Amino acid sequence: KAFEGLGLCTQLAEAAASLGWKQPSVIQQQAVPPLLQGNDVIGLAQTGSGKTGAFALPILQGLMDKPQELYALILSPTRELAIQIAEQFEALGSGIGLKSAVLVGGIDMMAQAIALAKRPHVIVGTPGRVVDHLTNTKGFSLKAVKHLVLDEADKLLDMDFEQEIDQILKLLPRERRTQLFSATMTNKVAKLQRACLVSPVKVEV
Ligand code: AMP
Repeated sequence: KAFEGLGLCTQLAEAAASLGWKQPSVIQQQAVPPLLQGNDVIGLAQTGSGKTGAFALPILQGLMDKPQELYALILSPTRELAIQIAEQFEALGSGIGLKSAVLVGGIDMMAQAIALAKRPHVIVGTPGRVVDHLTNTKGFSLKAVKHLVLDEADKLLDMDFEQEIDQILKLLPRERRTQLFSATMTNKVAKLQRACLVSPVKVEV
C-alpha cells in the first residue's frame, strides 16, 4: 500500500485506498512525512491537489496514537470548504470512530453547540462562527487543541478574518503543531505564518 511508505499505519493506508486513492498525491508525498515527524508545515497548494488528505491523515494518525477530544481545529474561509474538509475526515476516520463538528455560519448555533457537547475529536469551522461559539457556548475551549490547520490562508485573509484568527490564536495553547496551506504566498500570508508557525517545513506543488 503506497500510503504506508509515507509512514502511515496500515489502517489509515487502507482507509485512503478505500476512497479509491491509489497513490499519494504530490502534496501528500511531501507534507505527510514531516507532519508525522511533528513539524509545522507551510504548504503552497491549490484545491484539487489533495491537500485535505495531506493534513487529515497525520492528524488521524496522531489521534490513533493518543485519542483525545478537541484534538484538532481546522479553519476554513468558507462554509462549503469546511463541510468538504469534515467529510474527508469522516471518510478517512470512519474506521476509528472519529467524531467531528462543523462550526459555520448560516446554520443554527444550538445544533452546533450540541455537536460540541459530544466532544468531537476534530472541529472544522469558519473563523467568525468559531469565535461566536468561543464567546457563547458554555464549556467550549481550545485549551486541549494539539493541531491547528489554517486552510486556504490567502482566502482567509482576503475575507478579512484576521481579527477572528488573532482572537482564536490567543486562546490556543502555544504547545501545538500548526499547518498553513495557501494557494499563493502574499505578504499577509507571510505575516500570518510568522505569527503562528515555528520553524515550518515548506512544501510546494
Ligand atoms: P483537495 O485538494 O483536498 O480538495 O482534494 C481534491 C479531491 O482529490 C478530493 O475529492 C479527494 O477525495 C481527492 N484525492 C485526495 N487525495 C487523493 C489521492 N491520493 N488520490 C486520488 N484522489 C485523491
